[in-house]
Amino acid sequence: MKIICIGRNYVAHVHELKNDIPKEPVFFMKPDSSLLRNNDPFYIPNWTKEVHHEIELVIKINRLGKNIEKRFAHRYYDEIGLGIDFTARDVQNQLKEKGLPWEKSKAFDQAAVLSNTFIDKTVFPDPENIGFKLKINGNEVQNGRSELMIFSFDEIISYVSKYVTLKIGDLIYTGTPAGVGPIKIGDRLEGYLEDKKLLDFIIK
Ligand code: ZN
Repeated sequence: MKIICIGRNYVAHVHELKNDIPKEPVFFMKPDSSLLRNNDPFYIPNWTKEVHHEIELVIKINRLGKNIEKRFAHRYYDEIGLGIDFTARDVQNQLKEKGLPWEKSKAFDQAAVLSNTFIDKTVFPDPENIGFKLKINGNEVQNGRSELMIFSFDEIISYVSKYVTLKIGDLIYTGTPAGVGPIKIGDRLEGYLEDKKLLDFIIK
C-alpha cells in the first residue's frame, strides 16, 4: 500500500504559500509507516519547530490500474475518507530553498493521519462537491469543498496512473484548502466530512 499526496490543488492555499498555480498535478508520496489511525495522539517530533495541519479528502483505490483514462477514473474508487497531511513546514522550506525533495518534511512517522471511517461516494448528493473542515480547540481553521480543487479526483487518478501503477488499498490525499497553520502541544483537532466527525485527536 502506498500513499500519494497532491500538492497545490486549491488556489487560495497555493497563494498562501506563495507558490505558482500548477499546470499539472504536483504529487509526492508518504510511506505506510507514516499512517496515524484510530484517533491516536500525534507527537510533535523534536527536530521541527513548525508542524502544519493540512486537512484533505482521501480517496481509496479499489482496483489495479495503469494509464487510466479520465473518463474511466471514477471506477477506481468507491469510498472517501478524511486525512491530515502533517508537514514540518520549517524543514520543507529549507528543502525547497535548496531544490531538494520534500520527503523529510512530509514522510515522517505519524505524518499521514487517516480516518478509520470511509464513506461510500454514492452517499454524497454531489460527489464533485464534498465539504470538509478542520477545527482546532473548537475553532474552525480550514474549510474546503472538492469543487474548488484545481484538479478533480478523476484528473488526479488519470495523471498519477501515467507514472505510478495504482493498486487496491492505495490512498490518495487530494490536497488542502487554505488556512494551514501550526499545531501545538495540547491542541485538539477535529475533522469533519460534511457533518460527520471522522477525526478527533490530541497533539502531544
Ligand atoms: Zn497536503
